[in-house]
Amino acid sequence: MTTRAYRETALLNAGLNPFLLKADDVFIDLLTDSGTGAMSDQQWAGIMRGDESYAGSSSFYRLAEVVERLFHYQHTIPVHQGRGAEQILFPSLVERAKQRGASKPLFISNHHFDTTKAHVEIAGGIAKNFICKAALDTSTYSDWKGNLDVAKLASEIEQSGAEQIAAVVITITCNSVGGQPVSMSNIQQVSTLARHHEIPVVIDAARFAENAYFIKQRDPLYADKSIHDIVAGMFVNGDIFTMSAKKDGLVNIGGLCCFKTDKTLFERVQRQCVIMEGFVTYGGLAGRDMEAMAIGLQEACDEEYLRSRIAQVEYLGEKLQRAGIPVQTPVGGHAVFVDASKVLSSVPSTFFPAQMLCNALYIESGVRATEIGSLMMGRNPVTREQEPALFELMRLTIPRRTYTNNHMDYVAESLVRLIEKAPQLRKLVFEYEPEVLRQFTARFKEI
Ligand SMILES: *Cc1c(COP(=O)(O)O)cnc(C)c1O
Repeated sequence: MTTRAYRETALLNAGLNPFLLKADDVFIDLLTDSGTGAMSDQQWAGIMRGDESYAGSSSFYRLAEVVERLFHYQHTIPVHQGRGAEQILFPSLVERAKQRGASKPLFISNHHFDTTKAHVEIAGGIAKNFICKAALDTSTYSDWKGNLDVAKLASEIEQSGAEQIAAVVITITCNSVGGQPVSMSNIQQVSTLARHHEIPVVIDAARFAENAYFIKQRDPLYADKSIHDIVAGMFVNGDIFTMSAKKDGLVNIGGLCCFKTDKTLFERVQRQCVIMEGFVTYGGLAGRDMEAMAIGLQEACDEEYLRSRIAQVEYLGEKLQRAGIPVQTPVGGHAVFVDASKVLSSVPSTFFPAQMLCNALYIESGVRATEIGSLMMGRNPVTREQEPALFELMRLTIPRRTYTNNHMDYVAESLVRLIEKAPQLRKLVFEYEPEVLRQFTARFKEI
């Protein structure tokens, strides 16, 4: 724990950007749920037995076996984290679309994650988000705010032509709109439509187990099904999946790029893996990391673990709602998203209201949160205009198996105190703005 005066100086030295704070200067770290969870005794035991062979390590084969058992995908490429999968996969999808006659290949998603969008653009594609309308109204409950707008996808296919679309990317759960789940029927409809037009379906699977849990809770058709059955039911609708295993994979580092049957594409992406990540049976990881991932993927499907995990997020969400703080409703699987555009309704998005809230929360309490809004959205790569953001949200992201509900009480109480002072907060402008993925290293000043 630090003093307010200490935190004021620390944040100033960090350019008023919580990403640039030292973790030691943070009391409760809700910046991200990525790689910040606690590994289990079984995973640590796996770390001890990891096989560090360069080629063909037994840890790789155990990982590939788990992938086949859980997801029923035949071909596995390990990568160092989710973006590693994006960087080796997307160039091949762009190339294939161009061979089919695409001029500027499109990637259509419920919502691209920020690095996913960046990798689409680096590979020469255009990323479009077709999130359902229900997601935009944060104050009204809806079961499936992560759903992709199928009608919009159909009209895009009609207008642009199926050959222009390199892939449909289904992000489960949908982080960018509040960790919201995608329904089984939406996954099925999107997949049916894409397949009819021979468009590959990529599942961005970072939070696959949380999505499966929501399906079990909210869809009566699946109430009696096991998490394993639901996971298999979701993945049968995809052709490829990319995964950051730092989320539901319950590891501190690791990811996957897997192919259900497409051996040609798999082999092409394997070649890219050798150049960018490492040899095809380790992809930038140590054998021990693959061992921990194989175990983490299985633990993530434990229903009792999922229940306690989601219940903790709900616990924080309910405390905030009872205090009248506007949050994305219902709360998501991995985080509570506070609607900064409602808390700071007079602050235009150009002054980054959600970032203002994150900074104020840190000063108030030592709790670190992150912005999901205009700052993260960034500029249009061609016109350099600010891209319109769907939301201005402060994300309180809860690491897995790490904090207690006592910590959540402290977070809620701090935020309630802070909201009363919201009218006094000062607006933010850039002192330094990087060209891409600016949120991570930008520096600000107050006006
Ligand atoms: C985290 C994440 C990624 C990127 O993964 P990294 O492990 O951070 O490289 C991609 N997509 C989604 C949905 C994610 O949550």
